Amino acid sequence: MLTTDPFDLYGDTLREECGIFGIMGHPEAAAMTALGLHALQHRGQEACGIVSHDGEQFHAHRANGLVGDAFSSQSVVGQLKGNAAIGHDRYATTGGAGLRNVQPLFADFEFGGFAISHNGNLTNAGRLRHQLVSRGCLFQSTSDTEVFLHLMATARGGNVIDRLVEAMRQVEGAYSLIALSPEHVIGIRDPMGFRPLVLGRLETASGTSHVLASETCALDIIDAEFIRDVEPGEMVVLTADGGVSSIKPFQPAERRFCIFEYIYFARPDSVVEGSSVYEARRRIGAELAVESPVEADVIIPVPDSGVPAAIGFAGQSGVPFELGIIRNHYVGRTFIEPTDQIRHLGVRLKHNANRAMIEGRRVVLVDDSIVRGTTSQKIVKMVRDAGAKEVHMRISSPPTTNPCFYGIDTPEKSKLLAHNYSVEQMAELIGVDSLAFISIDGLYRAMGAPKRAGNARQFCDACFTGDYPTPLTDHTAAPRRSSALSERV
Ligand code: AMP
Repeated sequence: MLTTDPFDLYGDTLREECGIFGIMGHPEAAAMTALGLHALQHRGQEACGIVSHDGEQFHAHRANGLVGDAFSSQSVVGQLKGNAAIGHDRYATTGGAGLRNVQPLFADFEFGGFAISHNGNLTNAGRLRHQLVSRGCLFQSTSDTEVFLHLMATARGGNVIDRLVEAMRQVEGAYSLIALSPEHVIGIRDPMGFRPLVLGRLETASGTSHVLASETCALDIIDAEFIRDVEPGEMVVLTADGGVSSIKPFQPAERRFCIFEYIYFARPDSVVEGSSVYEARRRIGAELAVESPVEADVIIPVPDSGVPAAIGFAGQSGVPFELGIIRNHYVGRTFIEPTDQIRHLGVRLKHNANRAMIEGRRVVLVDDSIVRGTTSQKIVKMVRDAGAKEVHMRISSPPTTNPCFYGIDTPEKSKLLAHNYSVEQMAELIGVDSLAFISIDGLYRAMGAPKRAGNARQFCDACFTGDYPTPLTDHTAAPRRSSALSERV
């Protein structure tokens, strides 16, 4: 029986948004990986890491902060020798800022070393962790990704592929994985395909290399060619001789790609599951203009994520589009706001009103989502202070009423404005003359389906509907305990 918990055993594992990348068969695999992670930086800015393999040995570097800082020195990248490498961009919100949670995670097995990068969240990691700890496993991190390593270690023998498959059979939830073994780079998507993963090819003087990445923008940066999306439930195995094999260990499940990737999370220049993210956002904006038109003088996006939807809204409504809010791109997540007085300036560190486009006008602000409502409240006040005659707000997602358990950082229900208030109440709280969200059917129409119902529902939209496609094992289970180790880095 357990008397103490080495770490948090149930439920309170880290919620992470992440970008992953891997390459096989390239003489500068680590440098390519650093570039790929840089292109995926929007998926996680808190920490990053690369593990490479040189045919004999693994090499690793993990650090807090941005890829451009962590991998800026040639001496760091140069030490990561080998033709195969994988990497990870991480953004975690709850606890565990220590390096022990920075990926790729690494472990030694009977078959040799093994590194893993994970995007997504498991919904039964807490329960599995509890079982594994009871059997004597010693966890080193609070990340649910580590569950994969212990499930592989306790699997009934077999090679790396067999052990991975056995681990996958036990986990529930969202996982796109890229793993590195002495002989392979392996890409995996969970059977519902919550998070993206693409396969690409790069021709160089020394031959053909293959690439796995969260999004196509990471292929573009190294001039790799997009081959295809990794299928939900598929395992793609890359070998040093240029081999690419596909294993499908699962019965096909219903596809449930995260619709919020299209709305906010993915980069607009990426093509995800066959659709351009930019075009999807523009279509959503146009559909929003059809559903909730408003008489106005100017359409203004909340930059950057509201821009494509605002272009679509303006195009459909015939109202001019202007950059009425300017974003400062040099505000990092780690910007220190030293005193309360400075802190209360809040959003102006990031956004400022462009008075020339606002004063005396009826303004429609277009943003992708309202989560807690703090951003909208501050932006609306700023636009009113700049002399807007009327301020209307249009949101290119349905109201966010439920948390995500699959890898998007949406807070618990009690903190979600749309969970607590009606649209009319939200309008009053935010201080707008009118507020409208795209309807769930409107969103599906913009994505090319007639409406949400029936077989056309190929997305996970739980944050808007509460319809979770997997059991939420941890969240209906058990007591929460916190990690015994508090770590400063
Ligand atoms: P809030 O102030 O909490 O209402 O934040 C809403 C803003 O945060 C929107 O303008 C989005 O662009 C952005 N946003 C929405 N979801 C996320 C997320 N999961 N991670 C980071 N930013 C987000």
